[in-house]
Amino acid sequence: MKTNEIMPLNGNNTSQSTLNHDDVGDNHMLTGMDTPMIPTAFLISDKEKKERIAFHFTEIMDTLGLDLNDDSLKGTPERVAKMYIEEIFSGLDPKNKPKIALFENKYQYEQMLVEKNITFYSNCEHHFVPIIGKAHIAYVSSGKVIGLSKLNRVVQYFAKRPQVQERLTNQIARELQKVLKTEDVAVIIDAKHLCVSSRGIKDDTSATVTAFYGGVFNTHEKIVELQNFISH
Ligand SMILES: [Zn+2]
Repeated sequence: MKTNEIMPLNGNNTSQSTLNHDDVGDNHMLTGMDTPMIPTAFLISDKEKKERIAFHFTEIMDTLGLDLNDDSLKGTPERVAKMYIEEIFSGLDPKNKPKIALFENKYQYEQMLVEKNITFYSNCEHHFVPIIGKAHIAYVSSGKVIGLSKLNRVVQYFAKRPQVQERLTNQIARELQKVLKTEDVAVIIDAKHLCVSSRGIKDDTSATVTAFYGGVFNTHEKIVELQNFISH
């Protein structure tokens, strides 16, 4: 998939079985709407997950030849494990999903509302290196509204997973459509992938832009209006 282009997200690519791992990873293909997880994902405790990650990260560091007796390195496996579970991959666990209360739209505001430039940090699921970007969220109230900070929290929740940008865009949009009880949701994400800039092709200037336009946003007129909101 090329960078620097808007990718519409209506299609769902299902014919992945003949692809090898390098094809999928280096071309950053989307393999599904839901984060692929095993059925037993939440049968072990966070404490046990941290212990297992620390154990295996020790193996990785040891294999690389790093001296785990060194003062600076010896705490790293536990630090990485804690960071994975409590911070950067905490969005894998539904118990961390933001609870969102709906309010009546008492201001009678019936135009689009845009929350722009929501900074997020995610990680590429193919290389486990950062994706750094901004999300712009828009919706038209169905009569109900949510607190502005909740839009931000939904972005952060889905960002805190190993991700591909296309899925992140869709997951945020689908969740907001559900909680806001409307199809009229748009999500635009503009992000930099460190697996593209710091390794591989080493392109430091490209960015990837993805968009989801639901309901009333799926017209040329509304998309232009939305772009104007975002660029001001
Ligand atoms: Zn990657």
